[in-house]
Amino acid sequence: MFESNKDSQDKKKKLVIGWFSFTCCEDSTILFTELLNDHYDEWTKVMEFRHIHALKTDNKLEDLDVAFIEGAVSSPTQEKEVIEIRQNSKYVVAIGSCACNGLPSASRNEFADEDLNEKIQWYFDNFDYSKKVRKLDDVIKVDDNVDGCPMNVDTFFSVVKKYLDLFEIT
Ligand code: SF4
Repeated sequence: MFESNKDSQDKKKKLVIGWFSFTCCEDSTILFTELLNDHYDEWTKVMEFRHIHALKTDNKLEDLDVAFIEGAVSSPTQEKEVIEIRQNSKYVVAIGSCACNGLPSASRNEFADEDLNEKIQWYFDNFDYSKKVRKLDDVIKVDDNVDGCPMNVDTFFSVVKKYLDLFEIT
């Protein structure tokens, strides 16, 4: 029996990706979903979106080829989560300035003691925040950065191409 084009396309190796957001405004996630308006058909032929909360509810954090991580790390819970992502991904790409450099999400690291008024202290006392907000590579190994606030789209395209080439996916 002959395979249809669709069957052989379904069996072809795809780049298995995850997209994650931590402490940030999620603008790069919005930008990514906007890019799907133009690239959905092309990308779903070569990529499997295995873990993307912004797009679907059935997500699996296992055996990812590339994890794209947006945002800074601001709590012990987030630290555990990014370590778990790293353990389940061959490569990790930091997305946007907050993940690459910490700022602007890490602005609170600059607060002087006198800035820590009662209201701000209340947040520290009532939520699971770390003392300092950290950029992604302060917590886990990062293989590539897509800097920008939000992410630079041309750099994002080149990074996607780099990993498609690396996994020999056409
Ligand atoms: S880098 Fe800019 S756009 Fe991206 S999450 Fe941080 S503040 Fe938002």
